[in-house]
Amino acid sequence: MSLSPASTRLFKAFGMGLLVITTSVFFALTFVVELSFENYTADESGLYAPEQFAKRLHNLAPAPAYSMFYRVGEAMDAHNAAVTEAKGIGMADRSAFLEVIGAEAANYNGAIIETHFAERPELQQTVKDYTAWMENSGWSSYEAFRNTLNTKLDEVNQVVIAQQGFSAGIRENDRYALMRAGVPDWLKTGFWAFLIFGLAALAGFVHMYPDLQRKPGIHNTGIFHKKMQTRRWPAWIVMFILIGFYVILYQFAGFFAPQAALLDSLSRIMAGTASSQWFLYGFIYSFAMTIMGIRMMIKYRGNAYQQVRTGSVIFFQVAFAFTLPQILTLMQLPSMDIKSAWPLEYSFFFDYRVDEMMQAGSFGLFLFGWGIALFAIGVPVLTYIYGKRWYCSWVCGCGGLAETVGDPYRHLSDKRLGAWQIERWLVHGVLVFAVVMTGLVAYTTFSGNAEVLGINSYSVRSTYGFFIGFIFAGAVGTGFYPAMGNRVWCRFGCPLAAYLGLVQRFKSRFRITTNGGQCISCGNCSTYCEMGIDVQWYAQRGQNIVRSSCVGCGVCSAVCPRGVLKLENSGEQGRVNDEPIIIGASGAWLNM
Ligand code: SF4
Ligand code: SF4
Repeated sequence: MSLSPASTRLFKAFGMGLLVITTSVFFALTFVVELSFENYTADESGLYAPEQFAKRLHNLAPAPAYSMFYRVGEAMDAHNAAVTEAKGIGMADRSAFLEVIGAEAANYNGAIIETHFAERPELQQTVKDYTAWMENSGWSSYEAFRNTLNTKLDEVNQVVIAQQGFSAGIRENDRYALMRAGVPDWLKTGFWAFLIFGLAALAGFVHMYPDLQRKPGIHNTGIFHKKMQTRRWPAWIVMFILIGFYVILYQFAGFFAPQAALLDSLSRIMAGTASSQWFLYGFIYSFAMTIMGIRMMIKYRGNAYQQVRTGSVIFFQVAFAFTLPQILTLMQLPSMDIKSAWPLEYSFFFDYRVDEMMQAGSFGLFLFGWGIALFAIGVPVLTYIYGKRWYCSWVCGCGGLAETVGDPYRHLSDKRLGAWQIERWLVHGVLVFAVVMTGLVAYTTFSGNAEVLGINSYSVRSTYGFFIGFIFAGAVGTGFYPAMGNRVWCRFGCPLAAYLGLVQRFKSRFRITTNGGQCISCGNCSTYCEMGIDVQWYAQRGQNIVRSSCVGCGVCSAVCPRGVLKLENSGEQGRVNDEPIIIGASGAWLNM
């Protein structure tokens, strides 16, 4: 029995209100939980003068994370300056060195380096490595020589800092680890996590309760009157929160030290280590997918395909993407989401990952072989049989998030021809970028040479990681759900989707058949196609849909009131029917 409209509104408002409160409390931890370094010790840190660094932190008065973030940063900078002065080339040292060279670039030679750094052999070698090429280099002016030398000496200092201080590359990880050490123990017991996430789950269930009381069947009523789902101010707030979450997580993780500490006890049980920002992310990801997946199951009650598919993506996320990597860490084995295939898993061929697998004995070799077999055999074979849906709509974590958390926004995907053109250029462009980047990185991994045709593979991989891994897949891919629909990443950016799509388009048994004679042109299918496919256009023509972008979510079929659309896998013959003519109400067609 359905609830009355007033009761429904009450449940919805209460659920949403509770969710807003718990989300606010979660983010507020950054501003209210005081971090203290009273008990901090850096004995095993490998830092230069760890006791002096510990003293720097001890001198910081307890303060909330947002303020401690900057103060810890200052302590790290001060430590790096001390490392430079003591172990690198400090200001006075640099002036003395330049004085020895004099005002002639031609004076610069190995003997000067050897004499000046005679008592510091390691530093002497590093300076030689970085600057020996500058001898007899034919400088246009002394100024040019001096500027280059200063740059190179800065790089030498960075090498020294990387060994005994906080290097630029992993600075945010270091800052996060330091801040985590300052989080009070009471936050790590698990009680606060249980309270916050428990209340958030309760909020979700209260909000869903009225939907459970409705008759089975897909109710999309009122969507275009809801501000949250039609790009109005509540949607912009959600978008702002999602993007902000990703920016902080990837670039300023220290701000989330208190939030990650909430899950410390769980992380210690599952992985045997303190909770990292990535553990926090994995937990929130799985939690949100599970709650919104239950909502999805309620919404699509009566549609077995949607129920099983939703159960599948939740299972793969919770079991394979979140739990299994923790267990592998606990067993001191290489941690890996074994269902994530290259090129989506773009770091698979990175040197440190390959090294880790090679050093893990037969299990590591199995993981390496599995990863290669998955993209080289598993992806094409399964896509031939089932289409890309086997991965995008049943297994993938990104697709799973889109289908569950993103479901309220699926109607916002752009159906215009222009969007399709942009989509094809972008997604295939990212695939090419991923292939080139992986080629360079693999060359470096297996040859040990970082330079390939004058290109530094480390720079290419960090560029890819920043623009594709962080901005595109994270901040834009998820943050833009409320503006551009739920499959922004899958549609415009995912290199694996592009690869799967090529197989699906040209060599697959999958198609959506359309019984055109039955179509009443209601447009439901196009409206709710998350991949921006104008399904109705095909339905009216009675044409099979074999588009490379179709993820086989089946929602077009589920929302069609006339049973026009059917997802099928069968022989390849007749799969592509580009020029059908509808004959009569039966929807028969001819190829011209
Ligand atoms: S065409 Fe249908 S099955 Fe394919 S992505 Fe769109 S809604 Fe999903
Ligand atoms: S939902 Fe069904 S009836 Fe409506 S336009 Fe699409 S195919 Fe036609």
